[in-house]
Amino acid sequence: MSKLYIVPTPIGNLDDITLRAIKTLQTVDFVIAEDTRTSGNLLKHLDIHKPMQAFHLNNEHKAVQQIINKIQAGQSAALVSDAGTPAISDPGFLLVRACVEAGVAVECLPGPTALIPAIVNSALPCDRFIFEGFLPQKKGRQTRLNEVATYTKSFVLYESPHRLVKALAQLIEVCGAERRACISRELSKMFEENYRGTLQECYTHFNSKVVKGEIVIVIEGLPVAKSKKTNRKESLDVEED
Ligand code: SAM
Repeated sequence: MSKLYIVPTPIGNLDDITLRAIKTLQTVDFVIAEDTRTSGNLLKHLDIHKPMQAFHLNNEHKAVQQIINKIQAGQSAALVSDAGTPAISDPGFLLVRACVEAGVAVECLPGPTALIPAIVNSALPCDRFIFEGFLPQKKGRQTRLNEVATYTKSFVLYESPHRLVKALAQLIEVCGAERRACISRELSKMFEENYRGTLQECYTHFNSKVVKGEIVIVIEGLPVAKSKKTNRKESLDVEED
């Protein structure tokens, strides 16, 4: 049966591609890629040669119907992104939703993604956690920062290296300097670093050098007792207003 496969690809270490991901890429009729050059290099490395179709933020609305038509005509497709699992802070959600609505079968393979090794490496509670992805860069950033500071579960943020120190300073303002955190840098790569400490310690550590590579920030949740106090204070403030 023709279907859309969602195929995770390595986040740095090429050995992390799964056997099933390789088999799927070998058997589909075409590959849908966020960046055909980046994914083309991966396919070349795997000695897989398939027609490719670009699928990125600028064309995804237009491309969705075209892709659905091809799958409904009997072709199978694999969606890949530059790294990790498509649709996780990457294009893919629109296509998955449209396929499901059109009755096209969708199957997501398990595989690499940055958030899972980051939350596990953090040594912060990971039985329940919140994935936030990227914070808004401008509009809505402060509101989101205020919101994440109240979470009572560990939460995970994606951040770019050149914004890390600024983000840590903003997180200290809303969460307090003593909140525990872990910064995972270059996961699965040669210079992987998992720096664990308070937000202040993380800030001091990364402020002392030029930050390079890809970054995940994990922050512990607010202890429930404190969160109740904060909420109570907020509701008293509202009543007083
Ligand atoms: N789809 C990907 C996934 O499943 O994790 C995420 C794509 S998002 C555009 C890219 C962000 O993921 C980076 O800015 C960084 O926050 C995180 N990331 C990806 N690879 C990473 C790595 N090797 N080490 C640390 N963070 C990484």
